[in-house]
Amino acid sequence: MVDEYGHWRWELFEHILPYSVLLRIASVRVLARGSITDRSPRVRLFLWLLCHGRILTNGERVRRHFTVDGSCWFCGDVWEDIDHVFRRCPLSHSLWLPLVRANRAECFFTLDFKQWLFLNLTNDGSFARVSLNWNLLFGSLLWCIWCRRNDGIFGTTVTHSGSVLQRGLRMQQEAVVASVRGADGAGRVVNGATVRWTKPQLGWHKLNSDGALDRRNGVASSGGLIRDDGGSWIIGYSKRIGICSVLEAELWGIYEGLLAAWTFGSRYLLVESDCLEAINLVNNRNNSDGVLSMVHSIGEVLNRPWCVRFSHIARDGNHAADWMAKLASSDDLLCHRYLSPPVSISVLLQQDAAD
Ligand SMILES: [Zn+2]
Repeated sequence: MVDEYGHWRWELFEHILPYSVLLRIASVRVLARGSITDRSPRVRLFLWLLCHGRILTNGERVRRHFTVDGSCWFCGDVWEDIDHVFRRCPLSHSLWLPLVRANRAECFFTLDFKQWLFLNLTNDGSFARVSLNWNLLFGSLLWCIWCRRNDGIFGTTVTHSGSVLQRGLRMQQEAVVASVRGADGAGRVVNGATVRWTKPQLGWHKLNSDGALDRRNGVASSGGLIRDDGGSWIIGYSKRIGICSVLEAELWGIYEGLLAAWTFGSRYLLVESDCLEAINLVNNRNNSDGVLSMVHSIGEVLNRPWCVRFSHIARDGNHAADWMAKLASSDDLLCHRYLSPPVSISVLLQQDAAD
């Protein structure tokens, strides 16, 4: 999707993506092919497209009436869909096989494709013979498989699986180095709290929650927002609570946020609050006596079948949630949900997204 000078080939995909996504793509600086440092944004975008079913395989091209031939360029199988390209085609199968534990191979090759992507991209190394940083190798190899497929179709050579693996391993190492460097960059940590807002890892949603107290009348409110791994808005909420402590308002915010996240389909959720005390209470809810009733309610929601983690973020990184809490209506005590971001918060969202 990029020419030899590193320019996006818009004609290949601009008709299939919404304008908001195109604007995101336009902001990604792409370097010319072959450069080592070009790996990260391109691979990230590629994985995003893959996870959203936006990769143009031959099967997909037939479905969109671009062509009548949906077969695989390599093995001739009549239908080349994403599962075929990345897992079932003999060319890909032979690449994965030596990397996967023998007793997990059957599951690895038969698991639902989306689940397969998700499990392997989110640090689940249970399939791998060498599980350390498996998710990084897995993502890199998906990219390499796609490059090989395109080189095979548009070029003349078929890259040997050994070379593909070597390239994948090199990219994995670069990604490990980049992630170590990143710890001092956008996601800087001070006194255990993340200072800036960052996107959650692939497949996760992030809930930022906050409580606020109106000093004039002592009335507390809470609010927050949920964003996906691309930083896009899923839902926001705000609720006027009544007279209570700031800590209770923070817990209310987490509770309402969890309910909203569950309702809107989050199943892997990272919760960020700037209130360390609230996080500690929730994390230790089973060990504490006489905890606030709100902690108990949060515990009940957490018992549902989903994966929720909590993390402390500095106030500076949580300003969007703070804004939502202060937005609470003074007319009622209902929890108001926002399917699209209020206009007044857009600047804060843009600041967060500019990482
Ligand atoms: Zn094939």
